[in-house]
Amino acid sequence: MADQFDVVVIGSGPAGYVAAIKAAQLGMKTACVEKWKDDAGKQRLGGTCLNVGCIPSKALLESSEKYAEAHHSFKDHGISASDVKIDVSAMMARKDKIVDNLTSGITGLFKGNGVTSYFGKGRISGTNKVEAVAEDGSVTELEAKHIIIATGSVPIEIPPTPLHEDIIVDSSGALAFDSVPGRVGVIGAGVIGLELGSVWARLGSEVVVLEAQDKFLASADQRLAKEAQKTFTKQGLDIRLGARVTGSDIKGKQVDVHFEEGGEKKTETFDKLIVAVGRRPFTQDLFAKDVGIEMDERGFIFVDDQCRTTVPNIWAVGDVVRGPMLAHKGSEEGIMVAELIAGKKAQMNYDTVPNVIYTHPELAWVGKTEEELKAEGAKYKVGQFPFAAVGRAMAANDTTGLVKIIADEETDRILGMHVFGLHASEMVAQGVIAMEFGSTAEDLALTCFAHPTLSEAVHEAALAVENHAIHIVNRKKK
Ligand code: FAD
Ligand code: AMP
Repeated sequence: MADQFDVVVIGSGPAGYVAAIKAAQLGMKTACVEKWKDDAGKQRLGGTCLNVGCIPSKALLESSEKYAEAHHSFKDHGISASDVKIDVSAMMARKDKIVDNLTSGITGLFKGNGVTSYFGKGRISGTNKVEAVAEDGSVTELEAKHIIIATGSVPIEIPPTPLHEDIIVDSSGALAFDSVPGRVGVIGAGVIGLELGSVWARLGSEVVVLEAQDKFLASADQRLAKEAQKTFTKQGLDIRLGARVTGSDIKGKQVDVHFEEGGEKKTETFDKLIVAVGRRPFTQDLFAKDVGIEMDERGFIFVDDQCRTTVPNIWAVGDVVRGPMLAHKGSEEGIMVAELIAGKKAQMNYDTVPNVIYTHPELAWVGKTEEELKAEGAKYKVGQFPFAAVGRAMAANDTTGLVKIIADEETDRILGMHVFGLHASEMVAQGVIAMEFGSTAEDLALTCFAHPTLSEAVHEAALAVENHAIHIVNRKKK
């Protein structure tokens, strides 16, 4: 007889494992099926995020930033550190240990919360049936009142640059180079391309980023995107916009990459090429056609606002459904779905999902960009404040960037907050909370912020919405 559950989750990334834990916490008998294994063949929970995504990339970004600081900014503090070297294998071992700690942590959380874990490929064989198929082909049958699909996404491959050994790699390969390459090409100036390009550029690689679009970070507020482009270029990233990659040839241990830029055909030679052109939803062999689960035209599982698929009692969350491919978005969907299954009222506010690019400095935002509001014909007002006028930023020797707050012209409600600067990923949470609570710019302006902090730029930007910023000389008088 099949093992019986209230909820079976397929996939243990940040969407799936959070859904499973929440469902178990709400008293439902819950199982999670996961196929990920490490090099030793051991099951690994945590999905892309913990194994080859958010966490390992941030580990390498932290290590490489320390190295870059030792090289470039220690001297400003009067510190001399000669002969600073990077031991790539020690850096990778530190990263691997963090991944191991966190993925083992999920195993512990599953045990502690009573989630039953199955190692294998999950396949939906009927509206209430999941098969967990082990590598040896043996099948465990599970029966579930509810099924949650959380199978995530995988990197997109493009025909001009098929992956090749450790020379043409995807994001996972770029997290595991065994030495600092001389010359690195990155295809795609999106979040992942910029973060991974930054890691290797900080460690000394010459990095060229090839981006097909003419606009840099088209989905970000362009005032900040322009500042970011200038900053990253100054740091040494060679960002080529309007450069569409058309082909590649492996030449021994290197790769020739062919691309078109400004109507001209060009070629660059790299030691490593990182293909970072986006990710696609992963649903391979997940269900039989007659189950009735529908997909949209881009291969995402079709769901409503509360993550219901077209089949009653089958839900889908995370990267495999519409919306930004972000860990925290998937986790929130996972919690929402577990609560809905438990009969609670739950919904998710997609308008306040923060975006972060973990470059140095970081770029983070929530809500609408000025370009989006303009296109909608919305009436809005803007307050901006530069970190160059913030004492704490000066103390940190890191005054690049600004905070920009956009508020509705009539109601003063905050429509978007954009931060380019040190620790922007942490600061943006203030905008998220403000927007979640329906705050006005005035609410933030009337709030007392600790001094000296970087967050004072948020305060000043809120004040600047009505031209009331204090630490600006040329502000307009009212
Ligand atoms: P995934 O994490 O992809 O997990 C899906 C899981 O399902 C996998 O473990 C997979 O093995 C399993 N699975 C698939 N099919 C089956 C099946 N049939 N049976 C059993 N198991 C199955 N996001 C952020 O928010 N912040 C960041 O800083 C960030 N950095 C990133 C850096 C990199 C380099 C990359 C690649 C991604 C990054 N992301 C980041 C994106 C983030 O990793 C994803 O949005 C997130 O992992 C999606 O979660 P998920 O649970 O939907 O899917
Ligand atoms: P993202 O989806 O944010 O990870 O970004 C991926 C980026 O890769 C997008 O900005 C695309 O424009 C870019 N891209 C996709 N295909 C190519 C290509 N053949 N050459 C250069 N850039 C590309």
